[in-house]
This record gives sequence, C-alpha cells and structure tokens, in this order.
Amino acid sequence: MLLRHRLIVFLPLCAMLCMIVRTPAAPVTKPADSSSPTVAVRLVGSDGKPGPVTEVPRVVKTDSEWEKQLGPTAYRVLRAKGTEAPFCGNLLDNHKTGIYFCAGCDLPLFSSGSKFHSGTGWPSFYQPFAKENITELRDASHGMIRTEILCARCGGHLGHVFEDGPPPTGLRYCLNSVSLTFRDESEVKAMEAQAKQ
Ligand SMILES: [Zn+2]
Repeated sequence: MLLRHRLIVFLPLCAMLCMIVRTPAAPVTKPADSSSPTVAVRLVGSDGKPGPVTEVPRVVKTDSEWEKQLGPTAYRVLRAKGTEAPFCGNLLDNHKTGIYFCAGCDLPLFSSGSKFHSGTGWPSFYQPFAKENITELRDASHGMIRTEILCARCGGHLGHVFEDGPPPTGLRYCLNSVSLTFRDESEVKAMEAQAKQ
C-alpha cells in the first residue's frame, strides 16, 4: 500500500517536472570546456571494453549544422538541453547486450552491463563506459541543483547524474534515449573491423 501511495504521489510529480524541464533552453554550440582542440577519451578496444586513453579532436559544429544532422527532436535534447517525456524513449526497455554511443558524435558512453531498471521512465546506468567520456556540469536551472552530464567530445546534453543509484557506485546516470545510439555486440564488432580497414 505504501509503495502504491508513493507511486500515486511520484508519477504526477514526475510528469510535472518533465513538463518543466522540457522547456528548451538557449542552444549550446560549444562543449562546456572547449578551450582545447582535443579531448582525452577511451574508445572501444578490440575486446569490446574501454581502450587506452586517447586524444581525439573535439567535435564542434554550428547550431544549424547540428540541427541538420540530428533532426528537430534530437537537436532539442542534445543541443538545447531539452528532456524527452518519461516512459517514451525507445531505449528504456532495451535489454540487449551492447554499447550506447553518443547520437551526436558516436563516442561510446554507456555499456549494457551497467544499465538497470530505475522506474523513473528514462534509461538509467550506474556508471559510464569510461569516466573520461562524460563531462559533468553543475546545473542550477528550473529551481533545482543538479549535475548535468554531457558528451566529452561534442558537448551534447545527455541527461543528469544523481546519487541514488544501486551498488557498486550508488550513482544513477539518467539518460535521454534520443541522445544515444545503441549497437549490439555484432554491430560493435563490425564497426571495429571497419575502423581497422
Ligand atoms: Zn558526442
């Protein structure tokens, strides 16, 4: 009964918050820290796990270039810090084994091994693919203090990280499906083979 009561209170609150955070902010053209032309990240290694730290060029594009590449829905989230409606994203119930890449620049961001069911309505992970691949930023918008997470290579808005996740990290990386591109194991292998050519 208590759980049901909590859900009755929580779900409308969640929808209300969603309506608030869906209001697009001003477009962001550059990553949070774009002073250096390169960034140290980890790409997918030959075993499908994070490879060594590698310096790669940042991906910097104009707002119109991003809009053309991403389309209006992904642009609103990735470049204008919008949030998709809960329980609507196409990756929420994806249980396949594979890697989630940035929909803006293809940097590996999360692995299926750290995905968990949070009940919030957004895809949730307890740790990133590699900590180097995620940039964290204090977000004081909408009357809340939160930690925004962005792609380290293109500065795309991914979601937020909260300290109420499961072990072993106790963190909950709350993602927008539209910020991610999922590839299963065979697609990741095919991508690696293509990169070697
Ligand atoms: Zn990116």
